[in-house]
Amino acid sequence: MDQLPSSSSTDSSGSQIARARQLEVLHNFASRQAQLTHLDDIVWNIAKTAIAELGFEDCVVYLLDDDGVTLRQVAAHGPKNPVEREIFNRITITVGEGIVGYVAATGEVQLIDDARRDARYIEDDDFRLSELAVPITHQGRVIGVLDSEHHEAEFFTQEDVQLFTTIAALASTRIDAALALAKLHKTVRDLEAAREQLEGQAKELTQARAAAEAASAAKSNFLANMSHEIRTPMTAIVGFAELLAEGDADQQQQVLWRNQLTRNARYLQDLIGNVLDVSAVEAGVTDISLYDIPLYEFISDTVEIFRPKTDAKGLQLTLSSRGQLPTGIISDRLKLREILVNLLSNAVKYTEKGDVKVYVSSRPTTQGAQVRISVADSGIGIATEAIESLFTPFSRVHDTKRLAGIEGTGLGLSLAQKFAGLIGGDITVSSELGEGSVFTLEFITELSDNAQWMMPAVNPFAALALKPQLTKTQGPEEIIERHFADHSILVCEDSEPIAALVKVLLEREGAAVSVCSNGLEGVQRFEILCQAGIPPDLIIMDMQMPLMDGYEATRIIKDHSLAPAVIALTAFALKEDADRCLAAGCDFYLNKPINTKTFTRELKRLHGEFELRRALG
Ligand code: ADP
Repeated sequence: MDQLPSSSSTDSSGSQIARARQLEVLHNFASRQAQLTHLDDIVWNIAKTAIAELGFEDCVVYLLDDDGVTLRQVAAHGPKNPVEREIFNRITITVGEGIVGYVAATGEVQLIDDARRDARYIEDDDFRLSELAVPITHQGRVIGVLDSEHHEAEFFTQEDVQLFTTIAALASTRIDAALALAKLHKTVRDLEAAREQLEGQAKELTQARAAAEAASAAKSNFLANMSHEIRTPMTAIVGFAELLAEGDADQQQQVLWRNQLTRNARYLQDLIGNVLDVSAVEAGVTDISLYDIPLYEFISDTVEIFRPKTDAKGLQLTLSSRGQLPTGIISDRLKLREILVNLLSNAVKYTEKGDVKVYVSSRPTTQGAQVRISVADSGIGIATEAIESLFTPFSRVHDTKRLAGIEGTGLGLSLAQKFAGLIGGDITVSSELGEGSVFTLEFITELSDNAQWMMPAVNPFAALALKPQLTKTQGPEEIIERHFADHSILVCEDSEPIAALVKVLLEREGAAVSVCSNGLEGVQRFEILCQAGIPPDLIIMDMQMPLMDGYEATRIIKDHSLAPAVIALTAFALKEDADRCLAAGCDFYLNKPINTKTFTRELKRLHGEFELRRALG
């Protein structure tokens, strides 16, 4: 491209040509700039134009940083920076420093004919004699500087000054807009990053909240279960203790009540012991105490604890080993005992006929031995989908309706699994509903010092004949003294001790009491009594019962026109449980444990209130 003619020409046609040339340069520059929006494109186009069309040796574009004091090179073309868009040794200048800094500070154009005479000139790697620096201003504010140097003295002309300033003016709006756009993009990017961070935090918070809610739900569930599990035996303990304290019962009755009291106290003791053990393991404060354990004898002794129970139920109990076993292992005796007792106790508890078989086997490992003890029963089995929750505290995986009369806390297996973990093992289950279950404990253990691998001696008890079968427990009690009392009361309660206690209390008040051990039986008994024309005057309804719970039984009974007052007896002490009783149609509710002193009085009051309400319509 042609260079501009010298501005020193005095010839008028020459000056017209020069003017036309200037206009053409500016026109081309403005047209090219009009197509550019990115800051980089805009500033590099300025640098290129200065060299290619104005004939300058170099051109540097400085822009002022947001801090208002730093001028930063954003484009530089010339001998030092021959490659487009690459700046060799990018420098920054502070406003006020050198010629460029002076222009930024004052907004004045600086034309230096001989830099040797200007103290402001900053010499870098090369000394050039001429310099032209013009401000880039936008709305009266300096936003940058255009700077060009030339090795010859007095190189730049007034025309150069005009062109360079006009280029700066033409570019300033575009530079400012591009800067604003870049800032906007950066703000958008920052906002986007902030949004992502917030979303991440929100997700973490949601997860934390869900975890906290789950923990809180588990805690509430645990407390509700504890409340229920503790109140039931407490009712019996307090009730029978109070009856015994009255001291007017005959000998036989006293023995019966004392037995009930002891049984329930033991149950409560077990429950509390288990709860404390579970919490201790969860809090990580359970210690492991290692002992030498004669493996087979130890298992055999534990199995034999259950023989009286299996004999009483008419179940066969056997222990057998497969292959050689180490004579002694080193493990925690108490934990191992607790695990086995738990598995055996469940096997016996959930098996009505057939057998409970214990198998033990072992194989050497680098650490000592892997021991496997399986407890197999021919009992009620477990549905596949329930197996997962077996080890969750308080989970009684069978429908409670099917577990009539089988006591349990739902804590045993969770504790056994925790103990298994503590002794380096695990409990697995294989079971099918109605097909029995096999619970297997497997753990890795060290061997005792003098341990040997050998076939164990035969269990001396395994060959023992079965004891005669125990006769089954009696069914629900029959209606007593139906025709003599002022009131007939139907008691639906599956807990034998509580039913017995309530019955004693009510009979002492002259009531004829009929006890049913589940809701279905209660509904049927109620219907029979109605058909016979002697509907009960009052129904006491336990809410948690097998076969049909108290809620359903109450709903059915309350549909009947002869339905009397139904008073719920609940071991759950929470408000929601009470509301649920009332929603099912119960007229009132009483919490367990019942107070033997006030129970019948309270019942009478509630009954009176009900009758009054009924009379008033
Ligand atoms: P529980 O005190 O109720 O027996 P566990 O934690 O020992 O509590 O067992 C949890 C549940 O697992 C039991 O309520 C029962 O439903 C089921 N279960 C445990 N062992 C057996 C078994 N051998 N056969 C059938 N079901 C079993």
